[in-house]
Amino acid sequence: MISSDIKAKAGELGFDLCGVAPASDLPELAFLREWLDRGYGGTMTYLHRSAAKRADVRRVVPTAQTVIITGTLYNTDRPYSTECSDRGRAHIARYAWGDDYHDVIGARMEALLAWMREQSPEPFEARAYVDTGPVQERVYAQHAGVGWIGKNTCVINPEIGSWIFLAAIICSLPLEVDAPALDQCGTCTLCIEACPTQAIVAPGVLDATRCISYLTIELRAAIPDEHRAAVGSHVYGCDICQEVCPWNAAAPRSADPAWQPRAAWDRVDLLTLAQRQDDELTHALRGSPMTRTRVQGLRRNVAVALENAVLQPGETHGQTSTEERR
Ligand code: SF4
Ligand code: SF4
Repeated sequence: MISSDIKAKAGELGFDLCGVAPASDLPELAFLREWLDRGYGGTMTYLHRSAAKRADVRRVVPTAQTVIITGTLYNTDRPYSTECSDRGRAHIARYAWGDDYHDVIGARMEALLAWMREQSPEPFEARAYVDTGPVQERVYAQHAGVGWIGKNTCVINPEIGSWIFLAAIICSLPLEVDAPALDQCGTCTLCIEACPTQAIVAPGVLDATRCISYLTIELRAAIPDEHRAAVGSHVYGCDICQEVCPWNAAAPRSADPAWQPRAAWDRVDLLTLAQRQDDELTHALRGSPMTRTRVQGLRRNVAVALENAVLQPGETHGQTSTEERR
C-alpha cells in the first residue's frame, strides 16, 4: 500500500484533501508548551494534561512513522456573518450548522482505516482522531501539504480555503510523505485587524482567552465584562478571521448533506432563539457539534448577544440607555 492509494481511497470516501506527514520532531510542535505557559489556553485544562502527548504523536502510537491528514470542506451557500447588518441576527460558527463532524468524519476515518488494514499485507498500528485526540492536527496538516497555518491560526488550502475539518490517522506504516505547504499569507494582516477582541496577538498566535470561540463555547463561567460587547451577536463561535481571509473569498461549497444548516440555526434571529423552549433547543442540539455548550451555555450566549443588540453604540453592559437613566 502506498500513499497515492490511500489518497485515492480518501477521495472515494468523501474527503476533499489528504496528505501524509512524517511522525517526527516537527519544530512547530514545541510551541504548544510555551503557548500554555503564557496562559493562552485559559480554562482548557485538558490541554495541559495532554501536552506531553500533543508534543509528539509517538507518545500516542510509539511505533508511529507517519500521520495521514484528511481535510473535508464544510462551507455552504449562506452569506458570511460580516455581510449581515441585522443586529438581531444570531451568528453561529459555520462548522456547527450541520451534523456533528466528530461522528460523520469519525465514521469516514474508521472506514479509511479499515480499508487500509484490508489492503496491507502486514498488520500495523494506527489510531484515528477527529479534533478531540492529543494530536496537533494543524502542524501535521502543514507538513502533509494539506495547507499552511495562516496568521489566523487556521489551516488554509490554496485551492479550497480554510473551511475544512481536519482529521488524523497516526500509523506505523512508512508511507511516502508530502512536501510541506508553503505559507502564502504574505504581507496580509486582515484577520488580525478584523478580530473584534484582538485575540490574534501575533501572526499565528491566538490568545484563546480573548477569542469569541473560547468565550462562547469553552468558558463555563460568565463571559467577562471586558469582552461582552465585542462578542456582538455571536452565540456559538466566531468566523470573522476566516471570513475576511482573501483565501476564502471564493471558497467552494460542499453539497454534503451532513454540513447543510439545520433549520433551527439557519439565519435564525436572537429573539427566536431566546424564545425557544428548552426541549426544542435540546432536540435541535442532538447530533450537532453545538452540544458542547448544552442548552444552558447557549442561553447564556443568547442573553449576552441580545443585550448587545439593544445597546446603543458607546454603551456598555450594565449601563442603561440615556432615556432610562433620566
Ligand atoms: S474566531 Fe473571532 S474572536 Fe477568535 S480570533 Fe478569530 S476573529 Fe478573533
Ligand atoms: S487574512 Fe490574510 S493574514 Fe490572515 S490568514 Fe488570511 S491570508 Fe493570512
